[in-house]
Amino acid sequence: MGEFLTRGGAPWTPEYLLSIDEKACIGCGRCFKVCTRGVMELMGVNDDGELCDPFDDDEEIERKIMTVKNAGDCIGCGSCEKVCGTSAQTHGSEGMAA
Ligand code: SF4
Ligand code: SF4
Repeated sequence: MGEFLTRGGAPWTPEYLLSIDEKACIGCGRCFKVCTRGVMELMGVNDDGELCDPFDDDEEIERKIMTVKNAGDCIGCGSCEKVCGTSAQTHGSEGMAA
């Protein structure tokens, strides 16, 4: 992976979103709102503990959680981690294999 720079030319190390702890996440949606890259998706958890459409009226939604949908679109800005009140997210600088 090449070196990244800020606009001013200073070295910049991206902090990519690697994972979201489904036990810690409360599905508040704050991270989703600040992300400009469409990396995350809100999902429902049904009474069988399975992920499902959070807006499906036919499902018994127990709770909602945020998931990583498009990991490769993350630019590592770190905004989502900053607004998460439950420290549910793990970030790191390692890129994905080409
Ligand atoms: S680090 Fe930035 S680009 Fe990546 S998921 Fe979080 S808000 Fe989106
Ligand atoms: S901000 Fe944190 S608790 Fe809220 S939906 Fe995102 S990961 Fe979950």
